[in-house]
Amino acid sequence: MRILLCGGAGYIGAHAYVVLAERGQDVVIADNFSNSSPGVLARLQRITGEPVPFHPLDLRDRGAVVDFFARQPFDAVVHFAALKSVGESCERPLDYFHNNITGTLNLLYGMQAAGVKRLVFSSSATVYGDPASVPVREDASLQVTNPYGRTKLVMEELIGDLCGSDAGFHAANLRYFNPVGAHASGLIGEDPAGIPNNLMPYICQVAVGRRERLSIYGGDYPTPDGTGVRDYIHVMDLARAHADALDYLVHERHNLTVNLGTGQGVSVLQLVNAFADASARDIPYQIVERRPGDVAAVYADPSLANRLLGWQAELGVEAMCRDAWRWQAQNPQGYPAA
Ligand code: NAD
Ligand code: UDP
Repeated sequence: MRILLCGGAGYIGAHAYVVLAERGQDVVIADNFSNSSPGVLARLQRITGEPVPFHPLDLRDRGAVVDFFARQPFDAVVHFAALKSVGESCERPLDYFHNNITGTLNLLYGMQAAGVKRLVFSSSATVYGDPASVPVREDASLQVTNPYGRTKLVMEELIGDLCGSDAGFHAANLRYFNPVGAHASGLIGEDPAGIPNNLMPYICQVAVGRRERLSIYGGDYPTPDGTGVRDYIHVMDLARAHADALDYLVHERHNLTVNLGTGQGVSVLQLVNAFADASARDIPYQIVERRPGDVAAVYADPSLANRLLGWQAELGVEAMCRDAWRWQAQNPQGYPAA
């Protein structure tokens, strides 16, 4: 199959590229580098041993998107392209609506005009908001607690309506829990611009000496050690699920919404300790106030993905920390300027 990865230069897209290329797919990346570096392309070439087909494309430009699809045949699209910072989405909601929702609408217009009828979409556990109980199943009620989450929910709904209008269009909504880790080569990994918002890249930057200490947001949650509990999933396990979802769309011709997590809740302190062991570095931290909008515990029931896709996470917290650390230690400042 010829597969377009929209936003494929980003953290998860780059790892999915490796898995799809290894499975013999013909993969093309389109991105506007708004939150990624062109340096990733040379790294992908080093891993796969082949030049990486890349096209600059901004999904906010509907004319450019429709033109692009008119010129290039694709069998499927994997849609990673979105802005993803919760805090930034509260400060600049309109930019988030425009980039994520209008961008997705433009992508769907382009696909429809060109007759491309398979889509794998990067959704998020954020659509569950503060779930009433854990582990969370896909049929839990959906709530949004911030503009970023609203964009994910609206994007799932837009895609669902398109599937409803065209029995030949099939989509997979993949609700990621907390992706962490890196490819085992240490050549690609998470490279946030500015101060990391997420826990694992922050820990990595403390370990490598770029930040003095981690602030742990809240030590008084109703969790075993008082710190927040999440479902961290190795990015290579997550990447594999995209290839499995594409197979499902081709062979089963059904739509699909699944959680992608390990099903294990891990606290902030547990992750910090696991990282300290894996890296043999001290991770200084202080416990501070809770971060507004955070919830105590969210982890997945991933059994539906196992039943429908035959997928399950294979890599545990130790591998997540070891691989994240290898990437950070080999690339203390992230990707080199291209
Ligand atoms: P990322 O920012 O590393 O990758 C997103 C890529 O999309 C970037 O390369 C960016 O330049 C590109 N992009 C953004 N807007 C674009 C546009 N208008 N046109 C073209 N390209 C555009 O993020 P990621 O961590 O790889 O996340 C990928 C997807 O997964 C996102 O949709 C994100 O919301 C979702 N997700 C991520 C997480 C996470 O913790 N990383 C969790 C749940 C869901
Ligand atoms: N967290 C933290 N310090 C940080 C970043 C995150 O204590 O610098 C905590 C956060 O409160 C949550 C967990 O780590 O309990 C995961 O946060 P992250 O932002 O990585 O993912 P989220 O689940 O919020 O999307």
